[in-house]
Amino acid sequence: MFAAYPGIRLDQVNAPYYAGLLERRLLAGHCDECLGWHLPLRSRCPFCWSPVDAPREVTGRGHVHVLTLLHQGPPGVPYSPPWPLAAIELAEQPGLRIAAPLVDTPPERQRIGQPVELTWIERDGAPWPAFRGVAR
Ligand SMILES: [Zn+2]
Repeated sequence: MFAAYPGIRLDQVNAPYYAGLLERRLLAGHCDECLGWHLPLRSRCPFCWSPVDAPREVTGRGHVHVLTLLHQGPPGVPYSPPWPLAAIELAEQPGLRIAAPLVDTPPERQRIGQPVELTWIERDGAPWPAFRGVAR
């Protein structure tokens, strides 16, 4: 896992998230006391401060909450057409969001409010979550 995500500073709180990514499972923190979901993972629930057990897999359904069209990548890498990066609000709970690229999504579905589903992309051989626009 450390080799797959060399740019990530792994610790005992966030390691289960990245272990999930390696299995192509998107995990979020879930509190058994108040039933709230949260991301990123934390050792205590951010709503009621109860200790949090193992994270749970989310459905991968949601909608585009914020959309940014990147025109410039790393130095010397122009993005043409622009590369859509979104804050996805997951269906499990209002405010439960993850930043991820939109892929396989035509321009007319690159908009705020667009329903999306989870898919996966590979970067340097490791899986990362991405989302694609779907019909309502
Ligand atoms: Zn809680």
